[in-house]
Amino acid sequence: MLLRRGGTTFLFDYGMLPKDPPEYPLPAPPVDALFVTHSHLDHIGMIPWVASRQDIDVIAAPPTFEVGDLLLEDSIKIAGYEGYPAPYTDRELRHTRRLYRPVHHRETVEIEDVEVTLHPAGHIPGATMMEVNAEKTVVFTGDIHTLTTDLVWGAQPVRCDILVIESTYAGRSHPDREKSTYAFLKKVDEVVSRGGVAVVPAFAVGRTQDVLLALAQKRFDVWVDGMGKEVNSIYTGHPEYLRSAKRLRTAMHRARVVRGSHHRRQALKGEVIVTTSGMLDGGPAVSYLQAIRDDPRSAVLLTGFQVPGTQGRRLLDEGVLSLDGEDVRPKFELQKFDFSAHAGHDELVAFVEKCDPETVVLMHGDNREALATSLAGRNVLLPREGEWFTPG
Ligand SMILES: [Zn+2]
Repeated sequence: MLLRRGGTTFLFDYGMLPKDPPEYPLPAPPVDALFVTHSHLDHIGMIPWVASRQDIDVIAAPPTFEVGDLLLEDSIKIAGYEGYPAPYTDRELRHTRRLYRPVHHRETVEIEDVEVTLHPAGHIPGATMMEVNAEKTVVFTGDIHTLTTDLVWGAQPVRCDILVIESTYAGRSHPDREKSTYAFLKKVDEVVSRGGVAVVPAFAVGRTQDVLLALAQKRFDVWVDGMGKEVNSIYTGHPEYLRSAKRLRTAMHRARVVRGSHHRRQALKGEVIVTTSGMLDGGPAVSYLQAIRDDPRSAVLLTGFQVPGTQGRRLLDEGVLSLDGEDVRPKFELQKFDFSAHAGHDELVAFVEKCDPETVVLMHGDNREALATSLAGRNVLLPREGEWFTPG
């Protein structure tokens, strides 16, 4: 999103969708600064492209830079494996690092006469809402969750004139988090009791930590594999961005870390494996699926939304997996659990009411109309990519 006031333009988030082929945003016009809400690829994936070309400050909370940097570096490698040209080079990434300007939550930065205050957004550690104060107060939420989870505190509303808010779960609600966690742990128990192994594909950023925190409630033999390991250590280095660093540390200590193929074989003799990628498109998850494909005692427990076109989605919809280029119908059990880090429909409506803006701008959703209907009485905008509007 771009925000223009007089001669000043701010850019909020600049991501990409790591699909096949990847999807990129419109080229950004010249901007004065880039504000980044959190370290998911659809919000950060193209930072080096814009920052290194324009030599502008990039502002975000410290964990966003550390985790984001890991993902940006990894994206160059993934583009290499998959045969796509990377949208930025190693050199551009190195240049971008010099432009990182970490700002803590509840602190204010001033750029070109505009004050911007950072507020916690829930969602994942370090996720930030940006409050921009000039003639009007504009809040850009990025992705938010108002529910306090084991990992992060929920987002608190910020009074504003214009609220730019995500709408991922417009028209949908989540099952109760405690019930989902209970159902998940019960399923793991069942799989372990019948002699199988539960493979839990999870995104490295946010979900791996949610799942480890849930599993720490029981005494399972848990292994963790993939980039989630490094993300864990970054988060525990920033205890002020966690609900309880102590609990996350305990959850991490209860899990054993997979290092190399020897450990992978050992993990398969254990009870639970939490591994990337969350949508089964690469990462160590694929080798575990290969190992348990013919074992009806084992299970794959999905923990996140599966984007159409991914292996995870195909497995859910058709029961088919492509392993080494061959389509197979695996015999393991498949289940999906809700660990969502986004506010549901009713939570979004309540959040908007409390921020009490004149104008609400809905972004980041496939069903924005459903939310617009629930916000009747306010000026609601559903901008399309490339569209500008001027608030009254
Ligand atoms: Zn996100």
